[in-house]
Amino acid sequence: MAAARTLRIGLIPGDGIGREVIPAGRRILEALPASLGLKFSFVDLEAGWQTFQNTGAALPEKTVDTLKAECDGALFGAVSSPTTPTKGYSSPIVALRKRLDLYANVRPVKSVAPTPAFPDPIDLVIVRENTEDLYVKEEKTYDTPNGKVAEAIKRISERASFRIAKMAGEIAVRRQNVRNTTGDAVGKQAMVTITHKSNVLSQTDGLFRQAARAALEAPQFKNAGVKIDEQIVDSMVYKLFREPSTYDVVVAPNLYGDILSDGAAALVGSLGLVPSANVGDGFAIGEPCHGSAPDIQGKGIANPIATLRSVALMLEFLEQEEAAALIYKAVDGNLAEGKLLSPDMGGKATTDQVTEDVIRRL
Ligand code: ATP
Ligand code: MG
Repeated sequence: MAAARTLRIGLIPGDGIGREVIPAGRRILEALPASLGLKFSFVDLEAGWQTFQNTGAALPEKTVDTLKAECDGALFGAVSSPTTPTKGYSSPIVALRKRLDLYANVRPVKSVAPTPAFPDPIDLVIVRENTEDLYVKEEKTYDTPNGKVAEAIKRISERASFRIAKMAGEIAVRRQNVRNTTGDAVGKQAMVTITHKSNVLSQTDGLFRQAARAALEAPQFKNAGVKIDEQIVDSMVYKLFREPSTYDVVVAPNLYGDILSDGAAALVGSLGLVPSANVGDGFAIGEPCHGSAPDIQGKGIANPIATLRSVALMLEFLEQEEAAALIYKAVDGNLAEGKLLSPDMGGKATTDQVTEDVIRRL
């Protein structure tokens, strides 16, 4: 067994139910079996709307500095945003992605059980480019003789498109390895679907498509049997909702990725189940997809599963696949048995009870 390794994890609960689910994330890390040879240390960090109201900064420099200097990874809960635009406030997670160059947003979507609409298991991952496209936010409005006109820049680079597709390829290989070791869905084709609209946007999406193909044609993916698939984004939406089980890894530029991610999450029920990770080279922040859920805040009934899965996802990118697999399996066990479920899943269990049940199954 390798020497015990200590990973230092930044905990950024944020607002609302973030403060209830991030502690569950910490608990599952502390409960991992010692036989993995892994130890964790934690540092509590501030960000969010409450932090902004207290300090005038939604993302204090100390949070960024500590993550950069000390941490191997982090968990981010959720942040509330002001209902009216507030001077000086901007989303701390968006800023963190920029400051740490977390260029990928990774969102796995997995069904709990077969349903009449989707009898085949849904198990796919959306890999969204996170640094460019329309999100460079270079917009302007000007007057013309025919009235106001507004424009936005859609910027796509070869470098960003290449690296996001490379990450998608790596995820496809890793998923195939997991299938082969667990015996689940062996024989499912490892595949990356490149999503774009290059029939209309031949330059921008054309470059994305070309660079993504170039990345995926590398021998490391070819030799691992990763199939390169392509889909125009509108037909992608159609197929994603009709035949979600046919997808493995989907890679997309920022805007399409944003839309596809939320849409795909709707396929599997509660927001409380869907994890994500913000990933760069050598750093990952796990983040549940849901928001701060003010309607259930303080009741102790938030579903912790999105967070527990985000912990596992973070661990995957920190090269701790074995630990990640244990968490995924324990979560699946809890859902399959269906006895201790939170209210959003039709159950009566509290955040703590669900967390304890998952820990018991580790
Ligand atoms: P925000 O502005 O922070 O996104 P929101 O009001 O949009 O807050 P969300 O967190 O996006 O709220 O949640 C949308 C709905 O899903 C809410 O009714 C919320 O209670 C429910 N929900 C979200 N996350 C969970 C969870 N982990 N467990 C249970 N219910 C959840
Ligand atoms: Mg929301």
